[in-house]
Amino acid sequence: MQDNVVQPKAGPKISYSGVSKSYGALLAVDSLDRVVEPGTFVALVGASGSGKSTLLKMTNRLIEPSAGSIAIGDEDITIGDAHLLRRSIGYVFQNIGLFPHMTVAQNIAIGWRLAGTKTIDKGRIAELLDMVELPADFAARLPNQLSGGQQQRVGVARALATKPGLMLMDEPFGALDPVTRELLAEAYRKLHDRMGLTTIMVTHDMAEALLIADRIWVMANGHITADATPAELLAGNCGDDAEALVAVPRAQAEKLVAMRKASTARSNGGGASQ
Ligand code: ADP
Ligand code: MG
Repeated sequence: MQDNVVQPKAGPKISYSGVSKSYGALLAVDSLDRVVEPGTFVALVGASGSGKSTLLKMTNRLIEPSAGSIAIGDEDITIGDAHLLRRSIGYVFQNIGLFPHMTVAQNIAIGWRLAGTKTIDKGRIAELLDMVELPADFAARLPNQLSGGQQQRVGVARALATKPGLMLMDEPFGALDPVTRELLAEAYRKLHDRMGLTTIMVTHDMAEALLIADRIWVMANGHITADATPAELLAGNCGDDAEALVAVPRAQAEKLVAMRKASTARSNGGGASQ
């Protein structure tokens, strides 16, 4: 894995001040005040329709807020061109939508092309593929010659190609089988750390959120009803919405530990077990 070649800007701080988005009478996001500290990995969880995607899309100006302001670093995101802003932010979403008639290399290079670069830097493509743990010769393949997990890796490489400091990910691994999803989530967390990124990742998998995030934001009806570390969420006292989400993975983890203890005790002939 190369980590010294693509040097992103350091992960910025993100500040939301009184951010709302209304659709008629519906407040998809309701007066949100929140800060993401530089280099933090935030997992955004919550029921379908709670406002998660709306919040992400306001952050890269795919959606304009109805009220309030968002700053990346010290700069309000409405200063400057929306296209340039989007190019400076990595965005990965479910069913990433690689262009089917374009090779992996061309797909990864799309951000450079939009920025006016005509030739594809093959060395950079190889580095980006290496970062997401894909072999360099995948550059020449078409998307339909890749598994779903490999396609999502290409999606992450494409998002990293323009050296973003901030990554917004909307259920990036949601369509994958659990084993592939866990592998990718872990690999991405390592990239986040090595590159010093700031990441906001929407996930419906609470266990994934607990395992990889620094902080978890629980969203309900346009509000963040809990903002806590995984340990704090697991310990409880973070409110009903958080508790409902944590209860299932916590019970599963406890059952698995109990099963392992029982089987260790059996194989030790019922003697003392650790
Ligand atoms: P989530 O990503 O948490 O599932 P969304 O942010 O996509 O939720 O949506 C939040 C709420 O806003 C939902 O009730 C949704 O139906 C509504 N909504 C989203 N986009 C639009 C739109 N373009 N027009 C009207 N309502 C919308
Ligand atoms: Mg969504």
